[in-house]
Amino acid sequence: MQADAVQPRTLSELDYIALEKQYGANNYKPIDVVIERGEGVWVWDVEGRRYLDFLSAYSAVNQGHAHPRILQAMIEQAQKVTLTSRAFRNDQLPLLAKELCELTGYDKMLPMNSGAEAVETALKLARKWGHKVKGVPEGQAEIIVASGNFQGRTISIISFSDEPQYKDGFGPFTPGYKTVPYGDADALEAAITPNTVAFSVEPIQGEAGIVLPPDGYLRRVREICTRHNVLLFTDEIQTGLGRTGKLFASHWEDVRGDIVTLGKALSGGFYPVSAVLADDPIMGVFKPGDHGSTFGGNPLAAAVARMALRVLVEEGMIDNARVMGEYLLGRLKRIESKHIKEVRGRGLLIGVELTDEAGGARRFCEALKEQGVLSKETHENVIRFAPPLTITKDDIDWAMGRIETVLMMD
Ligand SMILES: *Cc1c(COP(=O)(O)O)cnc(C)c1O
Repeated sequence: MQADAVQPRTLSELDYIALEKQYGANNYKPIDVVIERGEGVWVWDVEGRRYLDFLSAYSAVNQGHAHPRILQAMIEQAQKVTLTSRAFRNDQLPLLAKELCELTGYDKMLPMNSGAEAVETALKLARKWGHKVKGVPEGQAEIIVASGNFQGRTISIISFSDEPQYKDGFGPFTPGYKTVPYGDADALEAAITPNTVAFSVEPIQGEAGIVLPPDGYLRRVREICTRHNVLLFTDEIQTGLGRTGKLFASHWEDVRGDIVTLGKALSGGFYPVSAVLADDPIMGVFKPGDHGSTFGGNPLAAAVARMALRVLVEEGMIDNARVMGEYLLGRLKRIESKHIKEVRGRGLLIGVELTDEAGGARRFCEALKEQGVLSKETHENVIRFAPPLTITKDDIDWAMGRIETVLMMD
C-alpha cells in the first residue's frame, strides 16, 4: 500500500507547467493555473490559492466539483464492478436508461462516453433512419447543419465545421453535410431536399461565443422539420441538464427534438458519460451489431450518471440556474466598461463580448485568474461565464467585485 500512496508534493506550479509542455502534445493553450482540488464552486491550485470556477469545465461540472453524493455513488460502484462491456448485462445501465427516459420523456436512450461520440451516434442514427424509414436511396442521406456549429472533434464532425482551424490539414472530409446560417429558419427550409434526413442544431451555440438565435427560431425549425419529414437533432451537450435554467434549452421554446444528445454534466464531471435520446420509431432502426462502444453504458458510468441526474433535480439546481442566471446577467449588463460590446445569455450560460479595440478576451481571463475567478475566452472576443449551477448570490457578489475591476482596466 505504502508504495502506491500519493507522494508528498515537491513540485511547484512552474514545474508542472514545464512538464506538461515537455511531454504533452501542444493542442491546448490553457490559462496557467494548476488545479489540485475542487469543492462546489471553488477550486484550489498547487500553491494553495483559491479560485471561483466560472467555467465549470465547459458545463460538465454543473453539479459543482466533487459533489459528495455523486462521489459516494462512484466510490460504492467502483468497489463492486466497473466494466462489464455490453457482451454482458449489468445492474446499473437498466436503471439509468429508465431514469433518464422518464426524466426527459423519450422512449429510448443509447449510452456512449464523450460528447463527440454521442453526436456521431446521432448522425449515424439519422442517416440510418433516412435510408431505412424515410426511403432515401442508400448513401444519399443529407444532414443540414448551422453555421458556427461546434459538436466535437472527430473527422465527420469537423467535416461540417466552418471554423478553418478545426479543419486545417485534417481532410479529406466526410460528405453529406450542408450548412445554413444559424438563426435563419427560411434558409433551412430552402435547403431541404427529398434526401434531407436531419437538421442538427445547438439551441444556443456555446463554442461559437454564447450565440442565442432569434426568439421563435427553434419553434419554426421544429415546424419546418415536421412538415418535411426531417428529424430535428438538438445537441444539448452544453446547454442541457439545467445550464440555461430549464432541463433542456429547447424547452424555452417548448420544442422537443427528435434526437437529443447529452454529455458533459451527465456525469457531474466525474467520468465521461454521454447519451442519445430518441423515440422507438427512430431508435428502433439500430439492430444488434449496428453500433456500440466498449465503455458505453458501463456500470460505473451508469451509477455516476444516475446520481448526477438525481442531485440535479432533487437539489433544485435547474431553478437555481434560472434565478442566479438572471441575477448574474443583470449585474454584468450594468457594468459600464468601454471594452464591453454585448452581454448575452440564458440561465448560467453567459457570454460577454468585447469590442475589437479591447485587445482580445484572453488578457481579461488572465487578469481574472489573478483576481481568483476562472473563466476562458471563446474565440477572440468573448468571455464565457458559466459557473456551477449550485452558485449562490454571495458567490456571485464576490466574483462580480473582481469581474468589475478587471473589465474596468485599460
Ligand atoms: C462539448 C460539446 C460537444 C463535444 O463533447 P466532447 O465530450 O468534448 O466530445 C458536442 N456538442 C456540444 C454542443 C458541445 O458543447
